Amino acid sequence: MPTLRTPAQLCDLELAPPARRAALEAVAARYAVALPPTLAALIDRQDPRDPIARQFVPDAAELNHKPEELSDPIGDDAHSPVAGIVHRYPDRVLLKLTHVCAVYCRFCFRREMVGPDKPNALAPAALAAALDYIRSRSEIWEVILTGGDPLVLSARRLRAVMKILGQINHVKVVRIHTRVPIADPARITPDLVRAMKIKGRPTYVVVHVNHARELTPNARVACAALADAGIPLLAQSVLLAGVNDTPEVLGELMRALVECRIKPYYLHHGDLAPGTAHLRTDIETGQHVMRSLRGRLSGLCQPTYVLDIPGGHGKSPIGPNYFERNGANGGEHVVIEDFNGRRHHYPPVSA
Ligand code: SF4
Repeated sequence: MPTLRTPAQLCDLELAPPARRAALEAVAARYAVALPPTLAALIDRQDPRDPIARQFVPDAAELNHKPEELSDPIGDDAHSPVAGIVHRYPDRVLLKLTHVCAVYCRFCFRREMVGPDKPNALAPAALAAALDYIRSRSEIWEVILTGGDPLVLSARRLRAVMKILGQINHVKVVRIHTRVPIADPARITPDLVRAMKIKGRPTYVVVHVNHARELTPNARVACAALADAGIPLLAQSVLLAGVNDTPEVLGELMRALVECRIKPYYLHHGDLAPGTAHLRTDIETGQHVMRSLRGRLSGLCQPTYVLDIPGGHGKSPIGPNYFERNGANGGEHVVIEDFNGRRHHYPPVSA
């Protein structure tokens, strides 16, 4: 089965309700659609709230835009000194090599920027200017390849970029953010894995996964190929209503990741991307889920719950908080809550 790219294909295969086809055509005219066979095969057609379908099959609710939603919700544009670069934090930059992805997530925070009808990749002159920018700023310690999905590029093109980054002395770390090991695991070939590596410097890979079912046997093989090649693996997930917003579902995902040698890194609160309100939770839900994980799961399974502050102000952890300072007039003390919800003075108050 090829990658499904139209509502007609999705309706024909009963992955979307035919009665909604007209509305879904309107969604697809605005936001890119791609459902690769690996993910299509995971969808339970009998379940109207299937967590895989909710993430990847377009929904008429995407046409409902809220006043608070933003076309550039995390403020990439405000920090883009040259095409393809986002320089928000002092010691690292994003390098966006392509606007294409293997799958288009319905909650994507860059949904106004990604898709096959967007400029496909940085043209050679723009890529050279982006690499010149990195070369000219000695404070750039880490380069984060993102997009779009950098692993949709050929091994030849990726190798060429990695080679140049490897020649810039102050770039000590390269990080690749990708959904390809999940969406199209067959792309993780030995040649592509070799292309991701730079002699003497680490390449980290951050895999985007939101539900344990995405870790199919083939996805696990792809991730193992990266880990076996010495590439440290991290995961980022997005908290999504009806997908993973319960302690049980999120906990199962975090454990499955660690079993695959993938360290959970970030749990993102849903960004204010246009037409995604039906997939966002409130922050209290996220804090409740995180508090439940802290009590039940190994420390290896704990991501940091973060919010990307709209306007380009960066990420901040959003709890839950276990610390409180009480009292006044010299009687101030600290109260710490343990994983069972019991509260303790620190230092302990003597009897
Ligand atoms: S893979 Fe990443 S960039 Fe591409 S649609 Fe999904 S969230 Fe957006």
